[in-house]
Amino acid sequence: MKLDILAIAVHPDDVELGCSGTLMVHAQQGLKVGIVDLTRGELGTRGTPELRLQEAQQAARIMGVEVRENLGLADGFFRNDTKEQMAIITAVRKYRPEIVLANAMDDRHPDHGRAGKLIEDSCFLAGLRKIATSVDGVEQEAWRPKQVYHFLQDRYHEPDFVIDITPVMEKKLEAIKAFSSQFLAAKDNEPQTYISGSNFFESVIYRAKMLGKMVGVEYAEGYTSAKMIGVRSMMDLINVTT
Ligand SMILES: [Zn+2]
Repeated sequence: MKLDILAIAVHPDDVELGCSGTLMVHAQQGLKVGIVDLTRGELGTRGTPELRLQEAQQAARIMGVEVRENLGLADGFFRNDTKEQMAIITAVRKYRPEIVLANAMDDRHPDHGRAGKLIEDSCFLAGLRKIATSVDGVEQEAWRPKQVYHFLQDRYHEPDFVIDITPVMEKKLEAIKAFSSQFLAAKDNEPQTYISGSNFFESVIYRAKMLGKMVGVEYAEGYTSAKMIGVRSMMDLINVTT
């Protein structure tokens, strides 16, 4: 199945927090969007890997993505090395996305920055024909996404551009709440974490509100890009700011 936009992130729930609004906005425009999670988030303080997988599938239904796959790499201990790169190269060649959305290049959780670089490197390598990969015995063709953009996570970075997610903000919050073991979970017996309280959940809302305000819409998600961004027409730049 060919996708237009593929979000790749290290922990199930990174996509919901960072770029689910963007995925839903483009799905509503008729584009095909999907998700690849690198790990099952098995080192998370709360919940279990099995529960986290169920929550991820529930969130995928809410977002209406075409596909959500988990590569089963090692949470916390994955490296930017051959094994991990080959797993991502295979996924990129399988879904042939035009654009990849990836973890931030630098963040509070060290997995995020490491994954951001791993995903960016793997997307480049996926375009090299002499790296051989196959699925079910069928050799894959080389494929390099045209762009890789990194969504903002916990730490603030000045975004290179933002996407208006106002029409889907409610659904974004619903998709995040699908991870009920992780968020807004103050009333159970498991240990509380940096992300489990209402303060963190509210920070997702005010971040989106702040980014939205800067371009004259209600809510937005922000991205950084290693490459310079160009547009064909100046008119493409006035869509949300007028
Ligand atoms: Zn994460």
